Order: sequence, then structure tokens, then C-alpha cells
Amino acid sequence: MRSSGDIEALARGNGVEIFGVADASGFLDEGYQGKRPQDIMPDVRSVIVIGVRVPRGCMEPLPKGRAEYTNTLLAGTVVLRSAAYRIAQMLEAEGEAASIIPVEGSEFGYWYADRETLKADMSTKYAARLAGLGSYGVSNLLLIPGFGPAYRMTAVITTAELECGRPADMLHDSCSDCLSCVEVCPADALHADGSIDRKACRDYMFTELGGLRCGLCVKACWENFQRR
Ligand code: SF4
Ligand code: SF4
Repeated sequence: MRSSGDIEALARGNGVEIFGVADASGFLDEGYQGKRPQDIMPDVRSVIVIGVRVPRGCMEPLPKGRAEYTNTLLAGTVVLRSAAYRIAQMLEAEGEAASIIPVEGSEFGYWYADRETLKADMSTKYAARLAGLGSYGVSNLLLIPGFGPAYRMTAVITTAELECGRPADMLHDSCSDCLSCVEVCPADALHADGSIDRKACRDYMFTELGGLRCGLCVKACWENFQRR
């Protein structure tokens, strides 16, 4: 099994702040619904998850400044794509195969998603949980220690067998005394039982906001994490 230390060093040297590796076989669990890395790369062994922090300066003004918020998210995606590409180059130089998963909410995010379920092409959040980076909140966002919900992530799938993290708990314990995201959602898309109306969220952003990102659930949850 290959160490991932040099891959993490490469990633962090290219602006990455969150790093983890998931065993791709975790996507074969019955509980996972959605596209699997095995559907894309049959001999995939590992999923490398990388992320960057979303600057607080673009979240604090919300719901004002949604254009700035959206543009800042996309700028984070640029950093991640560049770092992911370098990781793919490193692995392919060793004779492995590597490919980069589309970032949900990127400029083509929902268009690359399943049109029926409105889910991402392959769940980067699920990969991050498998890697031990965080657990799901009521908001359906993955909550990561030190970052809360305020990050951008992408993933590199590869045939390389890498050292992997241990999966984190499915649900985050911060939600037991908090429903801030449910209360703030302008589209009533979030519910206390953890279910989400993806169509209501999508329609709000693409009809009401003309394609700009909403971010109110992210901001509400991030504010909670600042107070802890
Ligand atoms: S805002 Fe509260 S309930 Fe919603 S995901 Fe964050 S911690 Fe959980
Ligand atoms: S992004 Fe906005 S509309 Fe969508 S779930 Fe969050 S608060 Fe609701």
C-alpha cells in the first residue's frame, strides 16, 4: 500500500487546506445511493478528497453579495482543479490512472448531476466522510472540524492503493440542539428529519436567483460553528 504523504504535501503546496483519502470500496455499501467511482473507473482503489476554506468575507454579507459569494466559490474551484490536476499527474507518472470528479455547484454542477435525483455525479461529501473528514448535518452538508460547512471540495479517483482514513460517523452531533439551517432556508427545502427537497433548492437558485448560489444554510451553520 502506498503512503499518501507526498500527495498531501503536493496538495497543500498548491493551496489545499483539507486532505483525506477514502477506500473506494466504501462506495459499494448498500447505504450509498448514487453514482459510484466504480461506475466511472472499474479498477478504482482510492478516492483522494481535497478542499479549501470558503473566505468568511463572502459569507458574512449574505443574502447581499450573492454574486460575490458565487464568484468566490468558483475561484475556490479553480484552486482545487489545479491541485487535483497536479495530483493526477503525479499518480499517472507512476503508472496509475487518475481522474477528477466534477465539483457540485461548479459552473456546470447541476448540469452534470443526475437529472432525476439532482444529486452530484459522484458524492464528494460521501467520499470525505469515508475518509474520516466529517459527518453529515441536517442541512445535508458535511460538517468538517475547523471548517464547519464552509469549504469547497473535489476528489481524484485513482487506481492507486493508498493509505486511507477511517470513516467518520454518518451524522454530526452538533445538530441535536440546532435547526438554524432549516429555519433560514427561503425555499423550505430543508427539514428537521434531515430530508432535503433538492428541487426546491435548485428552483430557488435558478429561478429566484438567476443561477447565483444561495448560501444561507451554509452561513447559518458556519455562524453556529464560530460560536462553539
Ligand atoms: S445549522 Fe445546525 S442543524 Fe443545520 S447542519 Fe448546521 S449544526 Fe446541523
Ligand atoms: S442553498 Fe438556500 S435554498 Fe438551498 S437548502 Fe440552503 S438555504 Fe435552502
